[in-house]
Amino acid sequence: MNDLRDLYQEVILDHNKRPRNFRVMEDATHRADGHNPLCGDRVTVFVRTSGDRIDDVSFQGSGCAISKASASVMTDALKGLPVHEAEILFARFHTMVTSDPGVDLDDEALGKLAVFAGVREFPSRVKCASLAWHAVKAALATGGIATTASVTTE
Ligand code: ZN
Repeated sequence: MNDLRDLYQEVILDHNKRPRNFRVMEDATHRADGHNPLCGDRVTVFVRTSGDRIDDVSFQGSGCAISKASASVMTDALKGLPVHEAEILFARFHTMVTSDPGVDLDDEALGKLAVFAGVREFPSRVKCASLAWHAVKAALATGGIATTASVTTE
């Protein structure tokens, strides 16, 4: 189990150091700003959809390693998915990070998102890990790029 933990730690450090899809998207169709005042994390997410599919996801911002790595892993996970599957993934992620540390997780269903299972043991970091997800959800809920949604974790 410790090996798995080390691997997860490594993935988070890697995504923090070299975040994927860390850029402004000029042709985004949806955008949202997220703020986690507890930790000071700020993220802007950009989404481009065509029809019901997420063609591209990117983000910008500054924050702790967990918030940045989580946004990075999220962009990889969401690219190419139908919007409704993105919502299912968000629900799975949210259930995971807010579940009791003793509860068994379905690592297979979670895929790469499972690397954030460790935040269950640190309730103050749950908002760091879920900030980008909340932002994407808010972005997709808007009618389009004319409105920039904004979400603050409570
Ligand atoms: Zn944070």
